[in-house]
Amino acid sequence: MTTSPDSVKHRARVVPADSAGIAEAARVLAGGGLVAFPTETVYGLGADATDARAVARLYAAKERPTFNPLIAHLASADAAKEIGRLNATASRLAEKFWPGPLTLVVPALPRCPVCELARAGLDTVALRVPAHPVANPLLRAVGKPVVAPSANRSGHVSPTTAVHVLTDLRDRIDLVLDGGPTPLGLESTILDCTREQPRMLRPGTIPRGDIEEFLGMAIADSMPVGGEAPAAPGQLASHYATRAKLRLDADSVRPDEALLAFGPSLPQGAERTAYVLNLSPNGDLVEAAANLFAHLRALDATDVHAIAVAPIPTTGLGEAIRDRLLRAAAPRP
Ligand code: AMP
Ligand code: MG
Repeated sequence: MTTSPDSVKHRARVVPADSAGIAEAARVLAGGGLVAFPTETVYGLGADATDARAVARLYAAKERPTFNPLIAHLASADAAKEIGRLNATASRLAEKFWPGPLTLVVPALPRCPVCELARAGLDTVALRVPAHPVANPLLRAVGKPVVAPSANRSGHVSPTTAVHVLTDLRDRIDLVLDGGPTPLGLESTILDCTREQPRMLRPGTIPRGDIEEFLGMAIADSMPVGGEAPAAPGQLASHYATRAKLRLDADSVRPDEALLAFGPSLPQGAERTAYVLNLSPNGDLVEAAANLFAHLRALDATDVHAIAVAPIPTTGLGEAIRDRLLRAAAPRP
């Protein structure tokens, strides 16, 4: 590593959350940048949910060791209905609790623009419409869904002030929109609304009892999401899995396999297979993360019975990529 001016780390700028600041934040987000902004729960680290590269950079900034699906934030219930299918129960919940700290997981519509990486390859999408007086106009100005997991490094405490954000992410993000301390400090309640009876995925700010009372219906039992080990076999279904068998760390390819390559040099036998996709021809892990789920899906849509996956480095985003490949390769119940 040299110490040329180019390698000097850039520092996030902090702007007040007035109308000029919000307009600037919207421009940075639309241009693929990373912007921390206040919501009613905690500060979120925002990225354009439709831009897989921006989402990959977000994961790199947070140093998350795994690609959990992220929540798509929208300015209104109408905007949310453009990307996910709300059943009768979900529609009632949206009408009652949006805008507000409630996240609904629903089937993604075919035209859903939220990228595969943000959805971790799933056919569902998590939707939230924040009420916060900075977050909401920001989302309106961006005009696209924005993912915004908490603006901290993985394993650190969720930030409720701009200073917390800077402590963790100062040299990894583009902008912090300072709107003062966040009012709630606790994360949104997440409900799986893929069936008429909702299921609790994460307890949060809106109490379970309030939701049950409003619906006149019990919420099904909670199961940990994104935890290390699945709590029940059914939980495995919340991970993307391929139909074709995945063969990881392959140093050669068989003629009846597809190849998911990484980097400039291809494994032995690559020229004999009909299907090759490269996660990143120059070996860039951010690009590889951005392509991961879309490439897996494309190769899985061919008629091959197995996909050989070239070795992926264990550094940086490589850890999260390898984690998801392992999960995708795990036997299904
Ligand atoms: P965070 O963005 O840090 O608030 O965390 C997002 C939470 O939403 C994680 O617990 C995810 O596992 C969960 N989540 C997001 N999308 C989905 C989905 N499609 N299905 C199930 N859980 C989801
Ligand atoms: Mg967090």
